[in-house]
Amino acid sequence: MDIRTEKTTAPKAKPTDETNLGFGHIFTDHMFVMNYDAGQGWHDARIVPYGEISLSPAAMCLHYGQEIFEGLKAYRTADGSIQMFRPDENFKRMNVSAERMVIPPIDEKFVLGALKQLVELEKDWVPHTDGASLYIRPFIFATDPYVGVKPAEHYLFMIILSPSGAYYSTGLNPVKIYVEEKYVRAVRGGTGFAKTAANYAISLKGQDEAHNQDYEQVLWLDGVEQKYIEEVGSMNIFFVIDGEVITPQLTGSVLPGITRKSSIELCRKWGMKVTERRITIQEVAEAYDAGKLDEVFGTGTAAVISPVGHLKWGDKIMTINDNRIGAISQKLYDTMTGIQYGKLPDEFGWIFKI
Ligand SMILES: *Cc1c(COP(=O)(O)O)cnc(C)c1O
Repeated sequence: MDIRTEKTTAPKAKPTDETNLGFGHIFTDHMFVMNYDAGQGWHDARIVPYGEISLSPAAMCLHYGQEIFEGLKAYRTADGSIQMFRPDENFKRMNVSAERMVIPPIDEKFVLGALKQLVELEKDWVPHTDGASLYIRPFIFATDPYVGVKPAEHYLFMIILSPSGAYYSTGLNPVKIYVEEKYVRAVRGGTGFAKTAANYAISLKGQDEAHNQDYEQVLWLDGVEQKYIEEVGSMNIFFVIDGEVITPQLTGSVLPGITRKSSIELCRKWGMKVTERRITIQEVAEAYDAGKLDEVFGTGTAAVISPVGHLKWGDKIMTINDNRIGAISQKLYDTMTGIQYGKLPDEFGWIFKI
């Protein structure tokens, strides 16, 4: 399939102050769009000026939430070149999400090529500041004008780009996390493993209550017994107990993070013991009481590694590693960002050059 390109005649001014980019509110000049129609498949791939789209008020995505998305970044290296981190994994996962949400699959190689072409066109939008990057958001949603419940027959696939600031402007900062005991994010047989808008919609209430108590993120427990730890909702979670790196296994209700996978691969390469298994919040609290909870950290594309300084479970507040960054968290962060920004060799073949 060819990709038609229509360049903007009114390019926007690029942000001059890269220390104030924030996250997710500035968008570049162009976007990628492709349509799906039953009987015809994916077609009409195009790069066009970034702008509003018109949609029927009856568009199915607005009523029943048939939508999936991905999130990745493009990084500028010291020599000015641009690269991405394991983008093939994102499109592979997108097809897993698509299958769960009855959305037609995409050609992973084709969309990766389309993304490369889009980022090439927008290369001047990739920030130059260390830690800043171009956030990439691919997504697919149902567009049929039909207010009935069934899988749609018409979809849009889009990629938009957003220059974003460094997640940590003053070094790795430990976050405060609150263990959610009332609400759940995912259930057995549900959509926890899919990157779909619905999972976020149902997490907002818990997040809101955590914020009201001055906690930044929610740690979700399993939706069946509310005992086993799952994830942080936009990050996977790791515990270092008595020198062993433990992360909840992928049971179907946890999102299989690419940063999670990369962290496991790195720790194993460094000779650490890494275990993927079910772990209860009770076990974590007991390890804490025994003085064996060395580190807790989240993993995700946005922050890469997010050390957890405080973990609140009911009335119990665990202060981890004196609210300082642990050695493993720091090493993972330095290695992963080192590879992403081209400062360290890409021993695993994770880098995709633009
Ligand atoms: C995207 C996401 C993550 C992190 O995945 P990465 O591939 O590491 O960015 C974790 N949990 C949820 C629910 C997510 O949507």
